[in-house]
Amino acid sequence: MPNKVNIPEKISYMTELQCSDCGTLFSAAEIHTYCPNCQSPLIVNYDLAAAKQHVDRDEVHMRLKGMWRWHELLPVREPQNMVTLGEGDTAILHLPRTGNDLGLSNLFVKDESSNPTGSFKARGLSAAISKARELGIKKVIIPTAGNAGGAMAAYAARAGMQALIYMPKDTPTANIIESRIAGAEVILVDGLISDAAGMAGEKAHAEGWFDVSTFKEPYRMEGKKIMGYELAESFDWTLPDVIIYPTGGGTGLVGMWKAFNELEELGWLNDTKRPRMVSVQAEGCAPVIKAFNSGASFCDFWLGAQTMASGLRVPKSFADRLILANIRESAGTAVAVSDAAILEAQKNLAVQEGIFAAPEGAATLAALKELITQKWIEPDERVVIFNTGSGLKYLDHVE
Ligand SMILES: *Cc1c(COP(=O)(O)O)cnc(C)c1O
Ligand SMILES: [Zn+2]
Repeated sequence: MPNKVNIPEKISYMTELQCSDCGTLFSAAEIHTYCPNCQSPLIVNYDLAAAKQHVDRDEVHMRLKGMWRWHELLPVREPQNMVTLGEGDTAILHLPRTGNDLGLSNLFVKDESSNPTGSFKARGLSAAISKARELGIKKVIIPTAGNAGGAMAAYAARAGMQALIYMPKDTPTANIIESRIAGAEVILVDGLISDAAGMAGEKAHAEGWFDVSTFKEPYRMEGKKIMGYELAESFDWTLPDVIIYPTGGGTGLVGMWKAFNELEELGWLNDTKRPRMVSVQAEGCAPVIKAFNSGASFCDFWLGAQTMASGLRVPKSFADRLILANIRESAGTAVAVSDAAILEAQKNLAVQEGIFAAPEGAATLAALKELITQKWIEPDERVVIFNTGSGLKYLDHVE
């Protein structure tokens, strides 16, 4: 391509970090966590005008499969720092039988269960551990509801980093085993992820561990956002009408919304119509639904959080303001579902489609049923539910 002859290949178009609330800029060449001025998450900025000129979406399409084929829109500058286990490029599957039952002709699942470590947490941790390596970080710590710990352990092992994990003692057994076998130290906490977060925070401060908690470092969201790029590509550079997403910390939801902004600015979309974003939580822990319904901009801390969908057992996300703003900007909504409805949806997906979904993923089908009842979705709309993990990681709960 002659117009590219004199332009050096650029690995990443990242420019700087920016506070999602007060807008302060920070250097991306230094280690940052969240905004020291207002305690809000930091967002990664890219020179999208330059990327628009020099990166060709159809060339990206032809590259070797995986999340890192989108490296120009990811934060790592040196290829040798990319820590990969083959994450990304998960299947998007039509669900004809489930769709038929619900009166939907265009129902799809984005099946994230094929990611390394069996959940979409692999995407975020691949990005965060890679960037941590690039910044010279040697020891990482995380409070987790389960899958983020397992993913961090695997990527830290791959990167040769020391890993320390705090998780509730009733986290699915698979998460504890997968973390320990990868060499991570696992501390089981008598409490919830919020209690684990307090302990991990203190430890990080006292001993110099780098904390990769959801949204307390800027890069996990960058890995998760690639789900939005993949969706656009799957739908021939358009976006579905509705995305139904199980929300814990909210990295996937906020990340995909960021991806849609970037895709629009890159000029890669054939049609810029945006999806309505639906946030799904469990009735036993539904801070986003409560805040959405009451018109609040922030979530209240949810007391006594309880659900078998352990990834949704997050009493308050550090990015609650962004989650709520993105749902509203998209003209979306928020739905809480019971654990009984989750179990029923999990069976439906397995029997009708052959997909053994994580409870968090099954929750999106349960929410879809509710939205059909409310006539919130038209029969011919393109709807994507997200199966964020494999049911095989939750055998403790299967009757
Ligand atoms: C963490 C997790 C979620 C919630 O994801 P966020 O992006 O943090 O909202 C959903 N499903 C599974 C399987 C998870 O592990
Ligand atoms: Zn700020």
